[in-house]
Amino acid sequence: MLRLSIAVAVITIVLKGLAAYVTNSMGLISDALESFVNLASASFALGMVTIAARPPDEGHPYGHHKAEYFSSGFEGVLIFGAAAAIIWFGVLRLMNPQPLEQLGWGMGLSVLSSGFNAVLALMLFRAAAAHRSIALEADGRHLMTDVWTSAGVLVAVAAVALTGWLWLDPAIAIVVGLNIVREGFKLVWRSSQGLMDEALEPESIEALLAALERFRSATPEGERVRFDDVVTRRAGQRLFADLHMHVPGDWTLQRAAGLRDGVEQALMDAVPGLRVTIQLLPLGMEARAVLLEKEGA
Ligand SMILES: [Zn+2]
Repeated sequence: MLRLSIAVAVITIVLKGLAAYVTNSMGLISDALESFVNLASASFALGMVTIAARPPDEGHPYGHHKAEYFSSGFEGVLIFGAAAAIIWFGVLRLMNPQPLEQLGWGMGLSVLSSGFNAVLALMLFRAAAAHRSIALEADGRHLMTDVWTSAGVLVAVAAVALTGWLWLDPAIAIVVGLNIVREGFKLVWRSSQGLMDEALEPESIEALLAALERFRSATPEGERVRFDDVVTRRAGQRLFADLHMHVPGDWTLQRAAGLRDGVEQALMDAVPGLRVTIQLLPLGMEARAVLLEKEGA
């Protein structure tokens, strides 16, 4: 699927680039450039996901999960660069309109490349349904967005051919450029949230707290413990939760650790992909870090 996606992306870029070259159309150039940005960022993201999946090593004992955000940052820069170029040349062309050439050829090439993209998108949707993969579905949806962009550009270019309004071509290119900027903002926003140790989604936190409550009420053992200071964060695909488990002071460490093991399992079942760290404390005693934080030190 991946090799096919890359092959289709390369073909798309070549066809769209050719279409832009023969017609001298800004709109078609912007469309080709957008496809190129998509391919470049997808390849880079793939490399980063591979790094993110590497097991922890001596220098990175918590793993490499945040490599993913590096990729989003890079994509953001690439996207803004492409968008700035499109908008800049679009404005220049608006001030100095130029005739379009061989529109039939150009539009035919563009339709052909969109056809490839649409077929690939449908295959991705089917694979996504079969594997229940959110990533594949997102890829497919992204591709469909591309198809719609191309369709919009084609309509504009056809309108130029019919009406002779040359300004329409750079105008649609600028619209495509602005849309690319919007995509870039979304990416940069997402990665900046990740770098600041964003908490898990409210649904995941709710599932986590519900699992703790279930654990507490399930057994007389569980009812004697207290959970507090629950904090969560995410690093790429990896999810983390830290919390305290306060147990009666006269329990043996063996007994407390046994119970903690059950809590860890329950939480990992409630939130797939979660890594849990549970600090054991006696009831009536709080961790120094928490006390200091409450004092505002
Ligand atoms: Zn506590």
